[in-house]
Amino acid sequence: MGKTLEREGMALRQELTAAIAALYARGYALGTGGNFSAVADREPLRLWMAPSGVDKGTVTAEDLILVDEDGHSTMGKVSAEASLHRAIALATGAGAVLHTHSVLGTVLSMAHGSAGYIRLQGYEMLKGLAGITTHTAAVDLPIWPNSQDMEGLAARVTPHLATAPWGFLLAGHGLYAWGRNVFEARRHVEVLEFLLAVRYHAQGYPSPSAEVTATGREADG
Ligand SMILES: [Zn+2]
Repeated sequence: MGKTLEREGMALRQELTAAIAALYARGYALGTGGNFSAVADREPLRLWMAPSGVDKGTVTAEDLILVDEDGHSTMGKVSAEASLHRAIALATGAGAVLHTHSVLGTVLSMAHGSAGYIRLQGYEMLKGLAGITTHTAAVDLPIWPNSQDMEGLAARVTPHLATAPWGFLLAGHGLYAWGRNVFEARRHVEVLEFLLAVRYHAQGYPSPSAEVTATGREADG
C-alpha cells in the first residue's frame, strides 16, 4: 500500500470510527452490539470493519480490520455479520453499511414483523433519505426474519436489496442502513432511527376520532 493509499485508508477509518462513536453515544450499539463497515476496495471487495466482540464505544481507527472478499481477515476476528455487509455492498454499490441494535427499532421490528414492513410517511425527515424530495413520500422499510445463519440470510435478502429504501430491519434484531459513503450512511441510519422513534411514540397516542368516542366530546383542534 503506497503512502497516499495509506492516508486515504486512515481518513476513511477515522470517518467510520467517528460514526460508530456517534451511534454508540445514542445507545444504538450497546453491549458490543451492532456492526459497521466501509468499502476499502471495490474489486475485489474489501471492507474496513470493527472486529467481532469489541466495545463499540471505544473502537479506534487502528482497531479496524480489513475483511477480504471471502470474509477473512489477517488482522482480527471477523464478525459473523460481515457476510451481510458484503452482500449489501455488492448488491447496492454502498460505500458504507451501518448496523444498529436500537431499542425502538427492535420493538417495532417485532410489532410489524408479520406485515413484513413498516410504512414511514408524512414526515419531513424522510427527505434525509437520498432521492426523497417530499414528506408525502411513502417509504416501506422491509422487516425480514432474523437468523443465526448469516450466510443463508445474506443469500435470502440479496434479491431484495436493490429496491430496499437504504435500509431494512431484521425482526427482533436491529436496523441495517447504507449509503454511497460513510457520511450518507450515517445520515440514513440517523434518519431511519428517528423515523422509527417517531412511529413508536405516535402509536402511543389515540387518534382524534378515538378521543371523541372515548370522551363523548369533540377533541380540540
Ligand atoms: Zn446485529
